[in-house]
Amino acid sequence: MSILNADLHCHSVVSDGTLTPEALAARAAANGVELWSLTDHDEIGGQERAAAAARSHGMKYLTGTEISVTFADHTVHIVGLGFDPRNDDLVQGLSRMRGGRDQRARLMSDGLARAGIHGAYEGALKYVGNPDLISRTHFARFLVESGVCSDTNEVFRRFLTEGKPGFVTHRWAPLRDAVQWITRAGGMAVIAHPARYGFTPNEEYALFLEFKAHGGRGVEVVTGSHTTAEYVTYGETAREFGLASSRGSDFHSPEESRTDLGGLAFLPGELTPVWEVLADRIIQ
Ligand code: AMP
Ligand code: MN
Ligand code: MN
Ligand code: MN
Repeated sequence: MSILNADLHCHSVVSDGTLTPEALAARAAANGVELWSLTDHDEIGGQERAAAAARSHGMKYLTGTEISVTFADHTVHIVGLGFDPRNDDLVQGLSRMRGGRDQRARLMSDGLARAGIHGAYEGALKYVGNPDLISRTHFARFLVESGVCSDTNEVFRRFLTEGKPGFVTHRWAPLRDAVQWITRAGGMAVIAHPARYGFTPNEEYALFLEFKAHGGRGVEVVTGSHTTAEYVTYGETAREFGLASSRGSDFHSPEESRTDLGGLAFLPGELTPVWEVLADRIIQ
């Protein structure tokens, strides 16, 4: 095992989490996290606060983000770690990406209205911490609050996934762009929670091949989205493709997340941890 309590995937109010970067840092430190990264969706506006809060708790820090990508008509998430948050291409690429979210949210609201749920755009906005980053999670919180569903999982199942009334097809960044923004800013691109995409084995193989060809270097193995059997499967995939392995809870909220910050199994010892490859990018 790699006995380092690293948690390199979570979300704050800067995207779709419910805690501030400072509250997340305090919670991570209290749970024994030694190396932390805040990886807000398509947004790096919380990085300075997160790094400063990490330092105040004596935690090591890697800069982070989680970029939404469209690959083979599926949405795939690419985590970036250890990049320079002032890099122009990265900053502008992410800003363009966020630009499509408001229009998408209005269309989602129109779809929900046709299903008899009114005022969802305004309702979701009440939960948004960053007006640039309205997401399905904010709609889910509104639908739970208004009593339409009893939890966010039910909202996604009934309203927010493909074929359901609040789902709007959206074109996110090309895989190549996301990987290049991260790597050209000095960071490492990492495939987030690969078991979640529902790819066929061929599609998944194509994702890993293309990701590597563009310069991607890591994959999440131990994540709150994987079963313990999937830790084994994707540990093998990491070795097969020569990728470093990451560990992250994907924590969003004390009320909604099953896995707490720092609460995962350790990374299996035969894998190369991303934090070994990124040693010179770690902020002490
Ligand atoms: P978006 O980027 O707006 O498409 O929202 C995606 C976010 O929705 C993910 O990052 C998760 O936080 C959340 N999400 C996706 N699927 C589910 C689900 N089945 N249950 C709860 N949350 C989900
Ligand atoms: Mn999320
Ligand atoms: Mn994700
Ligand atoms: Mn995430």
